[in-house]
Amino acid sequence: MTGKELNSFENAKVQIKMAVEKMGLDHVVYELLKEPMREMVVSIPIKMDNGTTKVFKGYRVQHNNALGPAKGGIRFHPDSDLDEVRALAMWMTFKCAVVGIPYGGAKGAVACNPEELSETELERLSRGYVQAINPIVGPEKDIPAPDVNTNAQIMSWMMDEFSRIKQYNAFGVITGKPLIIGGSLGREEATAQGCVYVIEEITKKLNVNLEGAKVVIQGFGNVGGNLAKILFDKKAVIIGISDVKGGIYNPKGINPYKVSEHLAVTGSVVNYSKAKTITNQELLELNCDILIPAAVENQITAENANRIKAKIVVEAANGPTTPEADKILEQKGILVVPDILANAGGVTVSYFEWVQNNMGFYWTKEEVNKRLGQIMGQAFQQVYNLYQARKDVNMRMAAYMLAIDRVAQAMKVRGWIGSKIETEQKVTHKLA
Ligand code: NAD
Repeated sequence: MTGKELNSFENAKVQIKMAVEKMGLDHVVYELLKEPMREMVVSIPIKMDNGTTKVFKGYRVQHNNALGPAKGGIRFHPDSDLDEVRALAMWMTFKCAVVGIPYGGAKGAVACNPEELSETELERLSRGYVQAINPIVGPEKDIPAPDVNTNAQIMSWMMDEFSRIKQYNAFGVITGKPLIIGGSLGREEATAQGCVYVIEEITKKLNVNLEGAKVVIQGFGNVGGNLAKILFDKKAVIIGISDVKGGIYNPKGINPYKVSEHLAVTGSVVNYSKAKTITNQELLELNCDILIPAAVENQITAENANRIKAKIVVEAANGPTTPEADKILEQKGILVVPDILANAGGVTVSYFEWVQNNMGFYWTKEEVNKRLGQIMGQAFQQVYNLYQARKDVNMRMAAYMLAIDRVAQAMKVRGWIGSKIETEQKVTHKLA
């Protein structure tokens, strides 16, 4: 496992280059997509509760907006840096394109440890970040959302700050808001729900019965926790769960609702009485039907890929598998459902939230989930068909090819690139 292997930005560039070459697209498409179109790095001075001033570094990266306004979450994390934000912004471009929603890709971050901040410091930091990036965001420009360590409360402060600056109620500037100020029903569990739609499709294709299937989930936050509960309700057997402090394992199955109660009391899934405590490494290597990384980047690497025993890996997290590991998994016959497809449910319902804000007309949860199912089902089918038709690409590459083709078509008709770009139908036809 090398430092280079773990640089998500470099990894994302490798994936784009391969897709552009496989499709025979003009090199200029790669030149345009390998770097973000716009990057903003800001210094945010915040008055701390003890009277001192601390300066935080913030980022907002807009990778590409050919298909629509840029869209992507804001992360509060001590390790966040520009390269990480660039990679995440790129993935957003392709994630939106692969599910066919009219957005480009962006991402933001503030390098900070929210656990060390009081509530009032966190509010000042959230407002300070928006003051700094407000010239480049807006309902028609770039629409942020929550990501790691940010939540609906932080989105409320950010929306409020932007609205104060612009002197109107700009609900559509940010998604992932509380329901009372224009949030969408179904947003909280949207990423997990979208991932479950994809899991239902892939298990059907591979003749794996989801009922009784052995599932291992790394990460028990918004995505992993909701996933565990929805899959448990569908009678899958959740044999392993983990969080940053470690994992738990029971071959007979674990009840995630009970684990949630244990987590609420103890702060972690570990030491849950009805399972054995294991490490995150051991968890990833468990014998199971479906392994779902739902925590952070670079968890399946060249170092451990050979020991992965799952039949299917479904990437609920962003970038959990390195390109080297991807090759090893492919050689082992393990099917990987890529992140840009598997976790696109979150941005899809974010899109629904923005649409509802723009209309001022709100949908029921049933309507939200029905539309989410349609979008995820269609995107899965398109990626799977291309993967089957091409034979020489894995599902990740098929997803990238579909997404890049759509972005390239938009750039072509907008006149950003002059070379000949074939239409999607032609590409799919030729590949078939
Ligand atoms: P979260 O902060 O709610 O939960 C993260 C979970 O992962 C926690 O249980 C945490 O303890 C665990 N974790 C953190 N570091 C870990 C490590 N090194 N090893 C094992 N476990 C670790 O975050 P989330 O919103 O659930 O996001 C999880 C992943 O899904 C991230 O990659 C995120 O970018 C991606 N994602 C989230 C959404 C969304 O809507 N929340 C949408 C798309 C993608």
